Amino acid sequence: MIPAKFDYLAPTSVQDALAALAGSDDAKVIAGGQSLLPVLRMRLNAPDLIVDIGEIDTLKSIVDEGDSVLIGAMVPYYRILADPLVQGGLKLLHQAITEVADPQIRHRGTLGGALVHADPAGDCGAPILALDAELVIAGQGGERTVPAAEFFQDLFETSVGEDELLTHIRIPKYDGWGTHYEKFVRVAHQWPIVAVAAAVRSEGGTISEARIGLVNMGSTPLRATAAEQALVGQPATADGVREACEHAADGTNPPSDLNGDADYRRHLAKVLVRRAVLTAAGG
Ligand SMILES: Cc1cc2nc3c(=O)[nH]c(=O)nc-3n(C[C@H](O)[C@H](O)[C@H](O)COP(=O)(O)OP(=O)(O)OC[C@H]3O[C@@H](n4cnc5c(N)ncnc54)[C@H](O)[C@@H]3O)c2cc1C
Repeated sequence: MIPAKFDYLAPTSVQDALAALAGSDDAKVIAGGQSLLPVLRMRLNAPDLIVDIGEIDTLKSIVDEGDSVLIGAMVPYYRILADPLVQGGLKLLHQAITEVADPQIRHRGTLGGALVHADPAGDCGAPILALDAELVIAGQGGERTVPAAEFFQDLFETSVGEDELLTHIRIPKYDGWGTHYEKFVRVAHQWPIVAVAAAVRSEGGTISEARIGLVNMGSTPLRATAAEQALVGQPATADGVREACEHAADGTNPPSDLNGDADYRRHLAKVLVRRAVLTAAGG
C-alpha cells in the first residue's frame, strides 16, 4: 500500500527538528525508515508531518569518551559495525548488531531508531540494558539523560516524548569483562524468538558480577536479575552456573505466538542464559 499523504521536512539541526515537532499536532520522526515505513505503508499510522533527521550531522558521530563510547542516534548499523571503537570496546553491542536482520536493513536502520521503536523482539535493547547505557534525549526545554533501566516503558513505548528526539546513546566499555550475545531463531535473518546479552566479570575462575539482558521475554527488554544475583560467587563452569541459570525467566512474562508459547520461551531463556554466561566467562 502507499502511505497516506504527509508533509516532509529535513532539518539540519536538532533545534530545528524540535521546533518542527513542536509545531505540529501529528508529526513523526523518521531515521532509517526500516520500521516506520512499513507502518506507514500498512496505514497503521498516518502522520501529517514527517521530520527526517538524516540531515543532522551532529547525530552521526561515534566519539571515544574514555570509559564510554557516545554513539549518535542517526548512525546506521553498518557504520557502528565498521567502527574500531565499537569493535574494540563494545563487543557485546557489536555482536548483537551483526544479528540484526540482513545487510540491506543494517545499511539503512539506526541504533537510535531501533531503541525508540522499542520492539521487545529487537536485538539491541538487551545489550543496551545489560551494559547500563545512558540515553540522551533532547526537548525544547533542554537535554536530559535517562538510564537504560528507565528508558523502555512498555510495548513500543519509551521515555522519549512525542516532541522529543533521542540524540545519543552513551555506552560504558566494561574493560576486563567477558561478553556474549546468544540469539535463537529458526531461520536466518529472523527476529529473535528469545535472545540473551550477557556481560560477566570473573576472578580466578569465579563469577564476581553478571549483567544479563533478555529479548522477547516481556513487553520490553528485561534484566534477568534473579539469575544475575544467583551467579555471583559461582564457578564459571557448566556445573557451577547450571542452578543459577534456572532463575533466568523469573519475573518475566513472555509472549505466546506462532514461534513458540510462553513456556517454551521460559525454557529457552534458561538454556540461552547458560550458554551466554559460560561463553562470556570463557568457561
Ligand atoms: C524485514 C525486517 C527485518 C528486521 N529484522 C530485525 C531483526 O532481526 N532484529 C532487529 O533488532 N531489528 C530488525 N528489524 C528492525 C530494524 O532494526 C530497524 O531498522 C529498526 O527497528 C528501526 O531503525 P530505523 O532507523 O529504521 O528507524 P525508523 O523506522 O526510522 O523509526 C522507528 C521509530 O523510531 C522513531 N525514531 C527514530 N529515530 C528517532 C530519534 N532519534 N528520536 C526520536 N524518535 C525516533 C520513529 O518516529 C519511529 O517511530 C527488521 C526490520 C525489517 C524491515
